[in-house]
Amino acid sequence: MDTAPQKDLSRFCIHTMTHRQWTLEECARNYAACGAKGITVWRSTLAGLGAAAAGRLVRDLGLSVTSLCRGGFFVADSPLRRKEALDENRRCIDEAAAIGAPHIVLVCGAVPGVGLSEARLQIAEALAAILPHAESSGVRLAVEPLHPMYAGDRSAVNTLGQARAICAEVGSPFVGVALDVYHTWWDERLEREVGECGREGRLFAFHISDWLTPTVDLLEDRGLMGEGCIPIRTIRGWADAAGFGGMIEVEIFSRRLWAADPHEYLERIRSAYLAHA
Ligand code: ZN
Repeated sequence: MDTAPQKDLSRFCIHTMTHRQWTLEECARNYAACGAKGITVWRSTLAGLGAAAAGRLVRDLGLSVTSLCRGGFFVADSPLRRKEALDENRRCIDEAAAIGAPHIVLVCGAVPGVGLSEARLQIAEALAAILPHAESSGVRLAVEPLHPMYAGDRSAVNTLGQARAICAEVGSPFVGVALDVYHTWWDERLEREVGECGREGRLFAFHISDWLTPTVDLLEDRGLMGEGCIPIRTIRGWADAAGFGGMIEVEIFSRRLWAADPHEYLERIRSAYLAHA
């Protein structure tokens, strides 16, 4: 297992939602200036700019687009809504191709009234349905397991094992996983599952933040690396040992940190990345 610290910033990537108050251009300029090499783009930041122009802007600053976030929300209680979700995901794939993102991250969906088993079936069917468009566009699909606290309304995929099972069912090299330590750190099978994902070539993305105790908001109270209880470097070591060499994406949704001075916060992110990633 490789748990050596990050000695440089060659894999340093930040998700635009980490600075929710900044435009995509502000994120890209400030992230590049602080040494990041990659940027993960939240779709809403493309408004008014367009994906192709956004891709040029980001690359001109020396950054690569690591991921486009996010697609998914496949689960619904009516055929019409399920079809609308497929159409929306095809548009997301088009944007990823235009911006130059190798994959889209998928929050797969869950809806009260649709059981988890049925929801997982719907997710696998939806992935199979959009797969031809993803393949012809050269854009991969990264299923992100979400912490079980979201199983009621955001995602019926809650462990890396479930994500791997869905990937195996769809059976394409274009379908893999986005591993987010915030969602998966508690899972006793995580080390084994990360290893399997790596061996199967399904580890597409790696997201970091930290788990605070107490957590005061289910969505917007993530911690800066080192503030919480996630063994981030250990998990990153498992991923690297399984062959993952991609960007390490800082993805922090936090009302507390959004309220801080954004430039000071960015400096803290870089320090925390070097100390804990
Ligand atoms: Zn994530």
